[in-house]
Amino acid sequence: MTLADLPPASLRLKLDTQALVANWRALASLSGTARTGAAVKANAYGLGVSHVVPALRDAGCEQFFVAHWSEVPDVLEHVPAAMVSVLHGVSSEAEAAFARSSGAAPVINSLQQAAIWQQSGGGRCHLMVDTGINRLGISPAESGSELIASLDIDMLMSHLACADEDAPQNARQLQAFRDVSAGIAHRQRSLANSAGIALGQDYAFDLTRPGLALYGGVPRPELQGVIRQVAYPEAAILQVRDLQAGDGVGYNARFTATEPMRVATVSIGYADGFLRARGGACALQHGGREMPVLGQVSMDMIVVDCTAAPDLVAGDFLSVPFDLPREAGRSGLSQYELLTTIGSRFDVLVNPA
Ligand SMILES: *Cc1c(COP(=O)(O)O)cnc(C)c1O
Repeated sequence: MTLADLPPASLRLKLDTQALVANWRALASLSGTARTGAAVKANAYGLGVSHVVPALRDAGCEQFFVAHWSEVPDVLEHVPAAMVSVLHGVSSEAEAAFARSSGAAPVINSLQQAAIWQQSGGGRCHLMVDTGINRLGISPAESGSELIASLDIDMLMSHLACADEDAPQNARQLQAFRDVSAGIAHRQRSLANSAGIALGQDYAFDLTRPGLALYGGVPRPELQGVIRQVAYPEAAILQVRDLQAGDGVGYNARFTATEPMRVATVSIGYADGFLRARGGACALQHGGREMPVLGQVSMDMIVVDCTAAPDLVAGDFLSVPFDLPREAGRSGLSQYELLTTIGSRFDVLVNPA
């Protein structure tokens, strides 16, 4: 028995790839003479490797960063392996073997990883040096080791901890990166993420590595008005209901109607990245009208107040606000969390008319 074609989903994610490309170009321009890559880990921050990578490749992006080896095959559908780097590096023989067969470059993060890579045969790799984030990377003190000297290092990298703030640590990390790179043979250097690009061209070196800002995130005020929204979620109404005074809505009846009112049950929940933290202050929209979320967010549903839009019926799609800085401010979630929790139940519509 074969299944009929899947019907359209009750969730849509409209992607504006022109805004995506415009964001990449704006970041490239702020990066000055440095080239600009793209962090596409976590399925391009939830927006979909299969849409994001080809659009950026066609715009001229030549370096794509993922975190896990499991993320490599999807990226290789769209770009050659020489353009792909894996931030978690190689922690086992199995990972080194996969790295070699894929051709993607590991970012070596420790002496142990360096040993695993060299034992597997070595070859082109990148090296992460920790200059203060204390997450991954060899320490500056380890940079003189023979093992490090034996590596074929294409890109010497470090990562900023506080680039989204005006913290003295930014300048300290910049200086530490300059100092350590004098003692390690390498072909190019890379330090800045999205926020680091906004710190100025001192931070750009040879390659910048934006993620968040490509997808509409605004980590620093310098990028306000420069970065455009890329993703526009929409969710369909499943049912419209009429409540009486005293009727409770949703789990634990966190909202109770005080008078008769029209509400709609909408097909989006925390499994679709609409986390409970977003329920309180959020309103869905239709034709310029606002429909506030009522009560608790469920896994697959929310209920909204339709008083302002009595004409709406089941099947109508409502816009879910996704201006990332604004929604992060309202919910207490980070812009990164808003993106990467989106989930897989959306029909992605690329540049719909
Ligand atoms: C995720 C990541 C980036 C991209 O950071 P954004 O803040 O999303 O721009 C760059 N470099 C490294 C090492 C990363 O882990």
